[in-house]
Amino acid sequence: MLMFKDNLGNYKLKIAFDFDDTLTDPLFFELAGRLISRGHDVWIMTARSSYEQYLEACQKFNIPPKPESERNVDLLEMAKKLAIEDKIIYTACEDKKDFFFAHGFDILFDDDAEWHCNPICEAGGIAIHI
Ligand SMILES: [Mg+2]
Repeated sequence: MLMFKDNLGNYKLKIAFDFDDTLTDPLFFELAGRLISRGHDVWIMTARSSYEQYLEACQKFNIPPKPESERNVDLLEMAKKLAIEDKIIYTACEDKKDFFFAHGFDILFDDDAEWHCNPICEAGGIAIHI
């Protein structure tokens, strides 16, 4: 566990929320907002690609790219509402286990058990399949 203490000496967590079918659920959006307001370090960790990763893939497969303004609009809008635009991790279809440990997360909320939650739990992390 990599918990940290806030300036009142209270323990806080570094928490990741998946985006699709997790943070898009109003219940989890509200939970994320509540956790942020209580001083937890909340991030979005998505298997989507960033615009830069998308451009690389387009180049690789010789596909004309869509403009940046059409990519991840929903995700960026939600991140902005939570004021965590600088806390987005795009795994670009990679599974989330390595990112989870590399970034020192205490917990992940994700709707995918097989691909994301189970491997993290098996490696000693905490991932809540929602
Ligand atoms: Mg998902």
